[in-house]
Amino acid sequence: MNIPYAKLHPSKMRAYGAGGFELTPGMEEPGCPRLYRLRYEESEKSVEMGANLQYGGVIHRAIDQADSVGVLPTEILEEIWPTYLGPERYEEALRDLATFERRHDPYVTLAREVELTAPLLDAGDDHPAIQLAGILDRVAIHPRDPHILIVEDYKTNRFPPSRTDLDQWVQGKTYGAVARHHAAKWGIEEPVRIIGRYHALKWQPLEVDLTDDDLDVFVAWARSVAMAILNDDEGAPRLNPGCGWCPVKSTCPAFRNLPGRGSETLLDRIDRAPLDERARLLPHIKDAIRALEAGKESTEEAIKEKVRHSGPFDPGDGFEFTLQSATRRVVTDPELLHGIMGDDYYVAKPRLGDLDEWKKKHPDQAAAIDFLIEAEPAGTRLKRTVKKSVNPLDGEA
Ligand code: SF4
Repeated sequence: MNIPYAKLHPSKMRAYGAGGFELTPGMEEPGCPRLYRLRYEESEKSVEMGANLQYGGVIHRAIDQADSVGVLPTEILEEIWPTYLGPERYEEALRDLATFERRHDPYVTLAREVELTAPLLDAGDDHPAIQLAGILDRVAIHPRDPHILIVEDYKTNRFPPSRTDLDQWVQGKTYGAVARHHAAKWGIEEPVRIIGRYHALKWQPLEVDLTDDDLDVFVAWARSVAMAILNDDEGAPRLNPGCGWCPVKSTCPAFRNLPGRGSETLLDRIDRAPLDERARLLPHIKDAIRALEAGKESTEEAIKEKVRHSGPFDPGDGFEFTLQSATRRVVTDPELLHGIMGDDYYVAKPRLGDLDEWKKKHPDQAAAIDFLIEAEPAGTRLKRTVKKSVNPLDGEA
């Protein structure tokens, strides 16, 4: 396979599944050769960036653009915000950027969002020479120490990395290796000390010394990744822990051949496994539920946003989504309700559903209780109905 533009970026190494990445729950994909082939050889449409990467991209753009025009990132966020990321992520972005603005460090910025390259591999006549490449979020120097060069990476992950993740920080080491190649032109004096700054916006910046030995070992590893990609004519699937959220899993033969086709495997195992195995699965079951809930919420938010801007949304299955006003029932006079119900009030009060049960048992008081319950506006809710044009008999669509 080829390496587009003869530049090996960390994103390409990650897509190829070349190991040693930030294996945190927030990561997008561990990758595999098939994913790399679809993304970089066949420009497969469905291999677009996931929502987390898109979110990270907007945060980077806000910091970069704000810096170039001399305003705060929170001041330009609205202008550059893509509506498909939804209002919840907008609030999250405001919080992340406000944290960024409150932070100060002693370093002097040399460049932001700058692409740097360094020679990596001369692969002979069959391939062009390959460069190691990185787009660095920020390059900075220390105002009092001419030997120090800072390479900074802004991170929006929700979970901190483990110490092993930092040891295997491919992006940071790529930045360190390419920046080392350019250190002299920035006036950094020998011996050069490179500090990788893992600037986590949701917790705190971590600084790691990227020593010469570290970077030499890393460059040798990156060279072998480049050779592996160039010599791989097949781009075969390689199952890995990230397959469950791989963007091309639905067309992946390896994934589809899994018992129960991957996503059902967990359910199959819950049904069939002995209790001790099911007990070990429990954390994974909870993770899967949380991931599904989050997926449901973000999908609903994205649909709501689309309907707000463009009207009813037809995903092509004969149904359409619209927005409807939502209401919730509230008790208008708790004291009066207490007077009617006596001490049973304390049992039933927390839930209106319990009040309905109580009314069934005390029909003589139902009307008085209903008088104390009112519907109040509660925003909008999504409604999925059959499209009128698909089912002309359905007058309620
Ligand atoms: S689902 Fe298939 S293509 Fe996706 S990462 Fe897994 S093996 Fe690779």
